[in-house]
Amino acid sequence: MQLFNSLSREREPFVIPLNRPVTMYVCGVTPYDTTHIGHARTFLTFDVLRRYVRFKGATIRYCQNVTDVDDPLFERARRDGMDWRDLTEQQVRQLVQDYADLNIEAPDFFPRASAEIDAMLPIIDRLLQLDHAYVVAGNVYFSVRSDPDFGRMARMGYDELLAVANQRGNNPHDPNKRDPLDFVLWQTGNPGDPTWESPWGLGRPGWHIECSAMATKYLGDQIDIHGGGADLIFPHHPCEIAQTEPVTGKKPFVHFWMHAGLVWLDGEKMSKSLGNLIFAREALRELGADAIRWYLLCEHYREEFDYNRVAAARHVAITQQLREATTTSGGAGSPLDLSRGREEVLAAMDDDLNTPAALAVLHIMSLETIAAASEGRDVSAATTTLRELALMLGFTLR
Ligand SMILES: [Zn+2]
Repeated sequence: MQLFNSLSREREPFVIPLNRPVTMYVCGVTPYDTTHIGHARTFLTFDVLRRYVRFKGATIRYCQNVTDVDDPLFERARRDGMDWRDLTEQQVRQLVQDYADLNIEAPDFFPRASAEIDAMLPIIDRLLQLDHAYVVAGNVYFSVRSDPDFGRMARMGYDELLAVANQRGNNPHDPNKRDPLDFVLWQTGNPGDPTWESPWGLGRPGWHIECSAMATKYLGDQIDIHGGGADLIFPHHPCEIAQTEPVTGKKPFVHFWMHAGLVWLDGEKMSKSLGNLIFAREALRELGADAIRWYLLCEHYREEFDYNRVAAARHVAITQQLREATTTSGGAGSPLDLSRGREEVLAAMDDDLNTPAALAVLHIMSLETIAAASEGRDVSAATTTLRELALMLGFTLR
């Protein structure tokens, strides 16, 4: 199987270990405004990968975190006059329900950052000992100049890295920083934000350290696959590499970095700030889980996805045909053999999870099966094959 690695920017052979579980960590959500179609696409992608790895005979340990220590969550809780813990609880309940309704299997580990502070403190402490970090006024910063490879995944020069980081939450004007691109490992935070005890005083962790701590705690010092949305290519994932590898002493932290393209709506970027989010529960009501899955998998996961309601609706009929084809019964005529189509579907999946190609073949196989059944041919083997492939891709067939 070949997978595209965002770090090398190349397809590389992914040899599935059969003597130990494959380990996969996917950056989860900050629990507010969940679950929009952008989240759904990312988590569907890794759900399909997980199912496919298992289909190939391996086991997989999958960890997805909840970023419940994060500025936007605290701001939203303040705005709504809620305790941040209640907001988290409410949003995580919604998230779990949405995953179940989308037929996305629950992760094996689903840690919340707020409960994992103890795993973060030793990493920060070790980075200080190694001179990768420094303390000013109760804040601990990672020194990007201490890592000559910092940000390599993004393939950008310093100015561009800084510009992108600034768009994504970096404060370049913090007077305590030695370099505007340095990022917080620990911070005193805003007044009123929750705090935890630390050797540097009361405060809370930075976003990036949360994932390093949870990934290594649940999956080990080196993990096979680490995924997320394409907006994590910088700064989040390079920060994770920079702070994890010196502490574990093991390179690489991650063998395969995988990123799902962002979702647009009718040609505009889907975002909270533009207010054009489509929520999974709306789409579920309109389309059902199988049609959403089929529609979102019609574009290769690395491409951006332009969501369009009319196009989405067309996939209801396509999944009905799939369902019909898996339940139809033919006659005693010549048997329909779909083994070649099956090989094509698997070859497409081995090609960096080429779901558009796999689904195109699956659709033809469905139509062939329906036609063969109506001609009185024996379709019992064909329906078995279709059902096997459909379940491998995570369709409910309900
Ligand atoms: Zn993360």
